[in-house]
Amino acid sequence: MSIPVMKYEAVIVGGGGAGLRAALQLSEAGVKTVVLSKVFPTRSHTAAAQGGISASLGNVEDDNWHWHMYDTVKGADWLGDQDAIEFMCRQAVDAVVELEHFGMPFDRLENGKIYQRPFGGHMANFGKKPVRRACAVADRTGHAMLHALYQRNVKADTHFLVEWMALDIIRNKNGDVVGITALEMETGEVYIIQAKAVLFATGGAGRIYQSSTNAYINTGDGIGITLRAGLPIEDIEFWQFHPTGLAGAGVLITEGVRGEGGYLLNCNGERFMERYAPTAKDLASRDVVSRAMQIEINEGRGCGQNKDYVLLKLDHLGKDVIDQRLPGIREISLQFLGIDPVKEPIPVVPTCHYMMGGIPTNYRGEVVAPNGENMEDIVKGFYAAGECACASVHGANRLGTNSLLDLVVFGKSAGNSMVEYIKQHGDEYKELPEDAADFSLNRLAKLDNANSGESLADLRHEMQKIMQQHAGVFRTQSVLEDGINKIEALYARVQNLCIQDKSKVFNTARVEALEFMNTIEVALATMITAEARKESRGAQAREDFPERDDEKFMCHTLYYKDGRKIVYKPVHTKPMTVDYIPPAKRVY
Ligand SMILES: Cc1cc2nc3c(=O)[nH]c(=O)nc-3n(C[C@H](O)[C@H](O)[C@H](O)COP(=O)(O)OP(=O)(O)OC[C@H]3O[C@@H](n4cnc5c(N)ncnc54)[C@H](O)[C@@H]3O)c2cc1C
Repeated sequence: MSIPVMKYEAVIVGGGGAGLRAALQLSEAGVKTVVLSKVFPTRSHTAAAQGGISASLGNVEDDNWHWHMYDTVKGADWLGDQDAIEFMCRQAVDAVVELEHFGMPFDRLENGKIYQRPFGGHMANFGKKPVRRACAVADRTGHAMLHALYQRNVKADTHFLVEWMALDIIRNKNGDVVGITALEMETGEVYIIQAKAVLFATGGAGRIYQSSTNAYINTGDGIGITLRAGLPIEDIEFWQFHPTGLAGAGVLITEGVRGEGGYLLNCNGERFMERYAPTAKDLASRDVVSRAMQIEINEGRGCGQNKDYVLLKLDHLGKDVIDQRLPGIREISLQFLGIDPVKEPIPVVPTCHYMMGGIPTNYRGEVVAPNGENMEDIVKGFYAAGECACASVHGANRLGTNSLLDLVVFGKSAGNSMVEYIKQHGDEYKELPEDAADFSLNRLAKLDNANSGESLADLRHEMQKIMQQHAGVFRTQSVLEDGINKIEALYARVQNLCIQDKSKVFNTARVEALEFMNTIEVALATMITAEARKESRGAQAREDFPERDDEKFMCHTLYYKDGRKIVYKPVHTKPMTVDYIPPAKRVY
């Protein structure tokens, strides 16, 4: 089948923080670069990031990158790769200063330096006491960051294909990635975009759950595409539940609220985190706080008529602090619940927030996969960064503010690796296989030709319900086994998906159906890998296996779509320059 072919040296799929940071590196190096995005780049989910970006600037009190590294390794419950973690924490200070020079309007201290606030799990002196490490632009940090990066890209002449959706990657007979297929939403036409290198920065997939802080476009496209291409994904069983999603609505209330001095209360008015984490209290790691809240609710100490939420108190901070540091939170609370946090506490519940797993990469942003004896063979021409990637710096649980940092550090690192790889190519593009687009076109044809079958809305609703019930904050063998059966049954029904609208121009039903085919892969992979991991670590809390089992499970999960195969690979325990941080019990 013949379809139009476009050519760019570098194709970036995703216009969030990671995609834009990588694109900037490429465009500034003179590489012909295009960014594809389903939405206008500055509407990517990065824009919703509230609380901050971490860096051990030490502007308020003593701090250094080694402490940051220790906190990240511990936060990750020893599933993070220590070389990548050292790389990220060491780069953090330069990365934030660079953003400032890009024009990001950080909040300031009296002395003019960048303001910093505490965030969960960030501690001084190897875990001794909370430290102020989060740099913020009020509670709209991601918004400010994304706009600064977008403007820089415009200046650097990055091309944008806005409202374009990547469908699949194209691999040649050696397995190298040589381009993608993509759908132009406005016309409904499919194109091939040939490239020397392709980067995925497609963000998270929080929409697999019913209650989620994620945007509707966070459908895990990069994960679905990678799996369909025969490549594995890593550690997808680990999903972060953010302690403070607005009860009922799921909208995020930033951890910055607790960073500024807010705290949680149960129905007895008790500050219960003092029992669960005597030192860090409300600023313990997210998984720890989410579990504590769920236990309070399960044991009948929740608030409200149904006792199904707890309260986040911040009125004691005073109107001035709230209006200056947390204006967006006040607005959200008023708009969604009619509650003014200056006067009353906010009802909150743990809500799906972040995907720790993703496309396996090294710290250079190169996608890796097992090949014979080599567990980390580089897939040539394929790169990933940001939430869709697994470097792995967040391991089994991410610390707040470490994601925005991950985006800029690994976006830049992947950009540099791509520049190097592309320069080696010279003017040559690797040849496209003859059937380059057939796989995508056949998928589309099947969808377009179905005249009866399952409704998208029903399937999606059911998937979200199953995930919420069977892969939530607490997990057990029987709940997960039931979950696998249910999600497999649903997966079979997805093959009969049918959309009523057959038009081409801006057919959003078609786009949503294509998204869902990616999302369901993520849901299935989550359930299967969570069942297989018979231990509790970070965000995976198994009631039947309450302890961490380093002997059997201090390893990354690799999951393949074909045969639902699982392979485990070792964690990188060796940092780049400092001593290994050995596993210890995680207490806060
Ligand atoms: C409400 C909220 C608050 C947060 N607050 C913080 C915080 O304060 N600090 C912190 O460190 N982290 C925070 N996080 C996490 C962090 O914001 C995200 O992990 C991060 O922004 C993800 O960035 P990204 O560049 O990987 O992807 P995104 O910003 O999600 O961008 C993904 C991009 O990929 C594009 N895309 C996806 N699929 C396709 C496709 N098939 N074809 C074409 N384009 C595609 C989308 O259009 C989009 O441009 C927060 C997350 C949420 C949800």
